[in-house]
Amino acid sequence: MPKDKKPKVKTPVEWKVPKGTADILPKEQEAWRFFWQTGLGVSELHDFYFLETPLLETEELFASGLGDHYAAFEKIFYSLKDREGERLVLRFNPHVPALRSYLCNHLAYFSSPLKVYSFNPVFRQVKPEPGFSREFREWSFDIIGEADPIYDGEVILAVYDLLRSLKLKGLKLVINNAGCRVCRPAFKQKLKNYYRPLKEGLCKDCVRDIEENPYALARCKEEKCAALRAAAPIVLDYLCQNCNNHFKAVLELVEDNGIAYAPDPHLLPLNDYSDRTTFEFFAADYPLPIASGGRYDYLAEALKARLTPAVGGAVGMERAIEAMRLQGVAAHPKTRPRVFFVVLSDQAKKAALRLMNDLRGSGIAVVEVVGKKTLKAQLRIADRIGIRLALILGQKEVFEGTIMVRDTTTGAQETIVAERLVEEVKKRLNSK
Ligand SMILES: [Zn+2]
Ligand SMILES: [Zn+2]
Repeated sequence: MPKDKKPKVKTPVEWKVPKGTADILPKEQEAWRFFWQTGLGVSELHDFYFLETPLLETEELFASGLGDHYAAFEKIFYSLKDREGERLVLRFNPHVPALRSYLCNHLAYFSSPLKVYSFNPVFRQVKPEPGFSREFREWSFDIIGEADPIYDGEVILAVYDLLRSLKLKGLKLVINNAGCRVCRPAFKQKLKNYYRPLKEGLCKDCVRDIEENPYALARCKEEKCAALRAAAPIVLDYLCQNCNNHFKAVLELVEDNGIAYAPDPHLLPLNDYSDRTTFEFFAADYPLPIASGGRYDYLAEALKARLTPAVGGAVGMERAIEAMRLQGVAAHPKTRPRVFFVVLSDQAKKAALRLMNDLRGSGIAVVEVVGKKTLKAQLRIADRIGIRLALILGQKEVFEGTIMVRDTTTGAQETIVAERLVEEVKKRLNSK
């Protein structure tokens, strides 16, 4: 056929997920299910209640919380205007919505302090690179309504227990106390005084932040800025007596519970509502923090409510799962007993559905295959996915009111009365 006569082949549209986001695929379900099950178990064990807040919050909520620092964060918000003209923001972190919900729903009357957990996506418009997605999930813990350092310890322990239960090795806590509104201003002034004459040696961002947010200089990754940081004043030398006592008490709790830790005086929050305890967790073989948290005692006031001390922490689920993969952690979620249900003809489908429903109603998970391949090929699949019991239903069985039960390991099979299926399956699963 001459070239120009070739039928035009339509190129299919190449659909993509939005930049910096990813699908969680069926092949990854083991790791995710393991995480969810472990997370639910640990949250319950540590006596946290479930709290789910909307993915959308008003922009005003985050803006009020951040106050003067709002402009610095605004560019990484996902914000939109709804049809009524209200500006909304996709969940930027789990803690601000948790406190908002505490205030809106008067949750202090439900429990005091309030201990809540959630596992939800968080959205930040950052430059996508490994470990930095624009949508990621966090398993968070928050304790709202108490200032006692014991609650900092409880959050740290819940996070630690979750990471440990995920079988992550080489866990290390990095911790600091960022001061309070009594001692922090003097320290910030010291930082400004230190950096002002050094502007020449700092990056553009750091120069900008000296006056507005000197704590931001503690996070700069530029080599020249890090070099100057080495001789900078540290917050520990300026803590007031209360902050000092608070820090000591938290460190004692950490030590008492055998958590490996290292103080880092440069771990400082970028907003004004956070204070005192600030922490991150690292795991062996993974370079980025897999969990972080701290106190946010001044957030309620920033939201124009009365002073409500609070502390929270969150595990980055994607990062933790990546660290598990790098460490070779085998994620085996607890599975229900399973049977393999082979339907041999289209006519048997209706009866099969009822029987499968009976099994599922009795807590037995059913993997179903409607006969496209040969019976032999299907039984090989059952064997490969590790299911030892296969149920086979064809037209003949439907007609007789029976079903075939086959042990895929031994090949032994027998025909039983369909009405007794649940009972018979339970008996066989229990004898294994
Ligand atoms: Zn203080
Ligand atoms: Zn810098």
